[in-house]
Amino acid sequence: MTKRGVRVGNVNIGDGSVSIQSMTNTKTDDVEATVNQINRLSEVGCELVRCSVPDENSAIALKEIIKNVRVPIIADIHFSHKLAIMAADAGVCKIRINPGNIGGVDKAKYLADYLKERSIALRIGVNAGSLDSSHKSKPLAQAMRDSALEYVSVLEKCNFYDIVISAKSSNVKVMIDTYRLLDKACDYPLHLGVTEAGLYHTGIVKSAIGIGSLLCDGIGDTVRVSLSDDPIKEVEAAKDILKACGRYDKPYCEIISCPTCARTNIEVKSLAEQVEQMCKDVNKSLKVAVMGCVVNGIGESQGANLGVAGGKEKSAIFVDSKYVETVDNSLILPTLKKYITEYESK
Ligand code: SF4
Repeated sequence: MTKRGVRVGNVNIGDGSVSIQSMTNTKTDDVEATVNQINRLSEVGCELVRCSVPDENSAIALKEIIKNVRVPIIADIHFSHKLAIMAADAGVCKIRINPGNIGGVDKAKYLADYLKERSIALRIGVNAGSLDSSHKSKPLAQAMRDSALEYVSVLEKCNFYDIVISAKSSNVKVMIDTYRLLDKACDYPLHLGVTEAGLYHTGIVKSAIGIGSLLCDGIGDTVRVSLSDDPIKEVEAAKDILKACGRYDKPYCEIISCPTCARTNIEVKSLAEQVEQMCKDVNKSLKVAVMGCVVNGIGESQGANLGVAGGKEKSAIFVDSKYVETVDNSLILPTLKKYITEYESK
């Protein structure tokens, strides 16, 4: 469903693109550490950063943090609408609340009026653990959808529409089902994520399945990969998920490399790593294939702009799936570089 655009600083959530966000894990009242982490996140491609606001000192610190960073800041609030008001006054572009614990409908309405006057967006972040008892008899995905929509209707009664919705679960299937239901039910942009996804490898697999399935269906407007790890890795993983789903809208180089087998003639892994390194500053979308043999190499890498199919001493170079020349294996890398440079200047 086409979504309403919700402006969050210089990012328009719901405009058809998918923005990447992450969350700091420094103490928010440690301004220096938090600013450093936000700027590192921004350098690797994070477009929106959320900071937890557990207390008044954190809310006060936001003002100084915002002065020193380039990305829009989102305040993550639980339990206290007063902290949300303080964060709004400090200059955040969006506030995330869990409506189940913000202290009742009156406080949510008061907050909506306050944010509306200041054009600050609000994310309703529903999660399975804090559902209202009126929804608990339903299947979980339906309960989460209905809970989110119930809070949306409270905000709409205040004529507040700058709403982003999330309904995360640590259960990937529930998460996917919930967002599919939400996508059918409303036109507010959706923030995708698998919550408490876990350690690096497990977390990336769960996030890739959950977020990736939805993105491939055209569902989702902003994503956060949650890992028990450095948030920089969350951003890198989010970028890779977007790329794999064809939803990454900046130029980048994709390496296609074969898994290797008994026919492999060249060092596929190290060669692919070197090509990836060589292409990291190429400012154009490009697919380069590194295939271990000539038997299946060219055929298996259909769609690559250029590549190599390894032979015992000499290898075949191909451009747009057509053979162009044979080179000694010691010259594979410089030859690929030559064709990459040519492709870049076209
Ligand atoms: S491209 Fe060749 S070497 Fe690589 S996996 Fe396929 S058959 Fe094996």
